[in-house]
Amino acid sequence: MIAVLVSGGKDSTATLLLAIEKHGKDNVLPIFTDTGFEASETYKYLSYLEERLGVEIIRLKNPDGDDLVSLILKKKRFPNSRMRFCTALLKQVPVALYLMERKDVKELWFGIRAEESRRRKEKYGNITPEDTWEYSKWLNNIGYLRKRDLEKLTHIHCRFPIVDWSKEQVFDYLKSNGIEPNPLYSMGHTRVGCYPCILGSWKDYKACWQTEEGRRNILKLRRIEETLNAQGYNTKLKDHITANRLIRRLELNEAQGDMFCEEVCELCKA
Ligand code: SF4
Repeated sequence: MIAVLVSGGKDSTATLLLAIEKHGKDNVLPIFTDTGFEASETYKYLSYLEERLGVEIIRLKNPDGDDLVSLILKKKRFPNSRMRFCTALLKQVPVALYLMERKDVKELWFGIRAEESRRRKEKYGNITPEDTWEYSKWLNNIGYLRKRDLEKLTHIHCRFPIVDWSKEQVFDYLKSNGIEPNPLYSMGHTRVGCYPCILGSWKDYKACWQTEEGRRNILKLRRIEETLNAQGYNTKLKDHITANRLIRRLELNEAQGDMFCEEVCELCKA
């Protein structure tokens, strides 16, 4: 059995299609990890994929019942690129715990592309779609699982089947299979995940601000920041900007258009 991590984004959808094409849908196990902070478009998109592909997507959550908001409140800080506890606890750990019970799964496929970012190029630029990594060793790096748990996962190997694909190849592959991409892309988002991803770019926050749901979520992040600061934790939404300032910029941008972005703005440079 091939397990495929599905986020509702284009890359993981292409990876799922590829797995089904190569191994048949009865041998493929799609897994989605729900951070509790996803866009409603993404939940709808998962249902669309299930219907179009005739598969069931397994939905997993954090075993302690945490979602992104409760986790930030527990940790008393927002995640950043150096402390990505959200990915570890809301995504990687639930998948690992689930796969410990699935002895029939031999491979875990990731829709990672080296071209996505400089960081990804450094990490995945030298691997090929045929290469495999031992899952337990890979997980060991995240540091949240005990040795005896990792030992239960040694039968699984990771693969990155679209690691050398371009963004255009991914969209073309979806199109040639008659699969629509998540509508979030046509709404200006560059990636699919939390709505918004705390680590996201100005473009993603700006796209989120255009919808009622996204705006509500960004305002919720400001309330979290205020709550934590009122408790004495000096925390900021992003390293270089508070949620409050970010929202002021979003409001200004809305009122004045993109001209505003030409001013010196740390977020644009991030
Ligand atoms: S999408 Fe962003 S905020 Fe959500 S889990 Fe991933 S890194 Fe964390």
